Order: sequence, then structure tokens, then C-alpha cells
Amino acid sequence: MSRLQKFILSLMPAAWAKSAEADSRAWTFTCAACGHQQSVWDAGGIRWKAVGNSRNYRRCVKCRALSWQRLSRKPQ
Ligand SMILES: [Zn+2]
Repeated sequence: MSRLQKFILSLMPAAWAKSAEADSRAWTFTCAACGHQQSVWDAGGIRWKAVGNSRNYRRCVKCRALSWQRLSRKPQ
């Protein structure tokens, strides 16, 4: 767990923290270069109660390419 995650979760009631973690795991970055997927949670971030898809310029943990990665929510 990243420092950011610990900090944010420590401010929340336990039930919210669980929900925030589940949501953050459902949101996934997809690398445009190699198709590798990484959840927001695994990337050390938190995304909670968000809707819609977005694009983020970031480095892929697998192929190390800097690219615009699609952030989308996995269907549950
Ligand atoms: Zn990649």
C-alpha cells in the first residue's frame, strides 16, 4: 500500500475504506503500446466514486513506454 493510500484510508470509516479499495482495484489503466493492464490500486492510487473514462499520460510498468493510457472501470 502506498503512503497516499494509507493516508487517505486512515481518514475514512472502515466501510468507506473497503469500498474505496474495491473501486480503485476496478479502475484499470490499459497501455496503448502493449495492452498491459494495471489497476489504479496497484499503481498506488485511489479512485473512488468516479464515473466515465479518462486518459492519463504515464509510464507502463511492463514495456516502460510513456503513452496515453486509457483508464476504464472493469464491469463488476
Ligand atoms: Zn506497455
